[in-house]
Amino acid sequence: MKFEDRYSRQVLFPGIGVEGQSLLAKGRVVIVGCGATGACVSALLARAGVGHLTIIDRDFVEPSNLQRQSLFDESDAIESLPKAVAASRKIAAFNSEIQTMPVVADLTPENIGSLLGDADLILDATDNFETRYLINDFAVKHGKPWIYAAAVASYAVTMNIIPGETACLACMFPSPPEGTVETCDTAGILNSAVNLIGSIQATEAIKFLVGAKDKLRRTLLSFDVWSNDQAEIAAGRPHSGCQTCEKREFVHLAGERRPQITLCGRNSVQIHERNRPVDFAEMSARLGTHGTVKHNAFVLKFWREPYEMTLFPDGRAIIKGH
Ligand SMILES: [Zn+2]
Repeated sequence: MKFEDRYSRQVLFPGIGVEGQSLLAKGRVVIVGCGATGACVSALLARAGVGHLTIIDRDFVEPSNLQRQSLFDESDAIESLPKAVAASRKIAAFNSEIQTMPVVADLTPENIGSLLGDADLILDATDNFETRYLINDFAVKHGKPWIYAAAVASYAVTMNIIPGETACLACMFPSPPEGTVETCDTAGILNSAVNLIGSIQATEAIKFLVGAKDKLRRTLLSFDVWSNDQAEIAAGRPHSGCQTCEKREFVHLAGERRPQITLCGRNSVQIHERNRPVDFAEMSARLGTHGTVKHNAFVLKFWREPYEMTLFPDGRAIIKGH
């Protein structure tokens, strides 16, 4: 397949051209989270010819994801494939010329340096503020640009963060939201809202990679696809007094270790046990007497009513009650 043919319609676009296309091929982008936003943005960037994509996600594909997470299909959900692995396989089927690296892990203060250190650009496609503040700390500390994106129900929001030039996440929101935060598990989500924000994020990423910095949006943009309400707040310069930008206190990066057990989703808990590798064959034999067990190379699933446990090779487990 000829390079020129594949990208011909994009090269025709004056903002990209031949030079922009070769810059995209050299680009290194890390996508943190591969739910709906991550699936959208990684598919668009892969099709656009961004040369190196790292896709980080801790979760596996479930039937309730298929409504909006456009890279996955029913067989991925039946196999409980990790999202990062499923995404990487799908991308290879439509663009085998780029490199993708799937990483099945939580992004933590311990591994963020090795996973994000080489990135030209970091894309937030997570579903939680804990990880976003961690990305913000790392990005500001090392002067790496990142793009915040979030969606819930019919509402979506995004902002480009260029350390030293624009406000950072902590400038705009000095502390994470308190109390109950609406999530896709409580408020639902329209697939169009999340794919809209992924598309805007992908476009900003392409502008950055081809060097069209004057075209990058300098606002916090929000859009409600149901009410059609939209708003833009100037993100401006780094705010004076910002704990992260100005004081350079990277509290999330320094972070006390995460609690051993965290809630994820409405009826699930995650047990963070890293670096305690599990032998799936041996574990299957042990659990087989207590319930139903099934495993592949990536996950082991165990059912005993009313619980379902998903175990990863590094010892991390997600336990779900029905
Ligand atoms: Zn700041």
